Amino acid sequence: PFPCLQPQPADPLLSLAQLAGADRRPSRLDLSVGVYRDEAGRTPVMRAVKAAEHLLAETQPTKAYLGILGNAAFLDHVRALVMPGVDARDVAAIQTPGGTAALRLAAELLAAGKPDRTIWVGSPTWSNHLPLLGGARLDVRCFPAFDIAAQAPLVDRMLDVIAAAAPGDAFLLQPLCHNPTGVDLTPEALAAIADALAARGVVPLIDVAYHGFGRSLEEDSTRLAALLDRLPHALLTYSCSKNFGLYRERAGALFSVNRGGALRDLITGNLQALARTSWSMPPDHGAAVVATILGDAALAADWRQELAAMVARVRAVRQALAGHGVVGAINLGPVAGQSGMFSLLPFGAELAARLRSDHAVYIPDSGRINVAGLAADRVDGFVAALRAAQMR
Ligand code: PLP
Repeated sequence: PFPCLQPQPADPLLSLAQLAGADRRPSRLDLSVGVYRDEAGRTPVMRAVKAAEHLLAETQPTKAYLGILGNAAFLDHVRALVMPGVDARDVAAIQTPGGTAALRLAAELLAAGKPDRTIWVGSPTWSNHLPLLGGARLDVRCFPAFDIAAQAPLVDRMLDVIAAAAPGDAFLLQPLCHNPTGVDLTPEALAAIADALAARGVVPLIDVAYHGFGRSLEEDSTRLAALLDRLPHALLTYSCSKNFGLYRERAGALFSVNRGGALRDLITGNLQALARTSWSMPPDHGAAVVATILGDAALAADWRQELAAMVARVRAVRQALAGHGVVGAINLGPVAGQSGMFSLLPFGAELAARLRSDHAVYIPDSGRINVAGLAADRVDGFVAALRAAQMR
């Protein structure tokens, strides 16, 4: 009954994590999949999340459908948190099953609004971006946006691509905590990119999956404002997977910002129609937890404190890695100045294979390391493995 189905390759990253899970060597170190781990190697349920879950278990009056747009309080709180300077009347919002579904819905909205629209994607990027955007029938075009050897974003290249794009094209941006490079764009670069997008009539799709993991929630939002304040239109996808530690609960949102508010109802109606034929109604629990936390001053303060401690831990690991300087052919120095969960080390499949076979260290061939998954007391061992694997 399915003559056109082809066997699909397994997701390389998830396969690598499975391999790591099956490795029984005591020195096993899994730096593949992007989840935060504490010093003991656990991905904890955050304190405020547990407290909110208890509250919800006791007080939630019904499990009736949420409605297509999802939890209105969740959407209001997240919008105010991520873009406090943007007028709520200019924003159409919908709750989605995680940031992934927000991206897919954004892509479908872009395609519905202009069939075969081109979206420009700077490489390297999160491995799911390309299939996800292409699957929505956007014409996905990649260009180099990062110099791995220099560990620097190619801002001029981005500006050139925008200047040469057709009006109505879209442009994917990860302005904070870039996956996989960890490189943030400066406020000046963001302002220049925003001006170029606005001048050319190119629509940015801004992927925010690590809010708070850069400097702080407020500073990250200030950076986003450098973009949003200069743009007439933007789509912003938001994931609560990392900053609330709600990965499996699938809590996310899509915001469409259109200055002047004229498009808000048209976009809201279309988002509803698109979601209705897919997941129909979003899952309740994760968004209800976030709304409970952000709606309660004490819980919100505790969440912010725990998130700040997590981010400080990752920063300390970055410092420790960078302190080792040049290891073989790899300069770890720039890792300190990067942010979010990842850094992209300049190495290839051969080194990755040797690290796996000889040292039980699991890193994808791309060289993306999940810094947020590394305990401070494992840094020296990791660096020793990195050195030894290059010497063989
Ligand atoms: N965007 C980026 C850049 C990501 O790294 C991820 C998750 O790894 C997502 C979006 C999607 O997150 P979620 O797990 O909420 O679907």
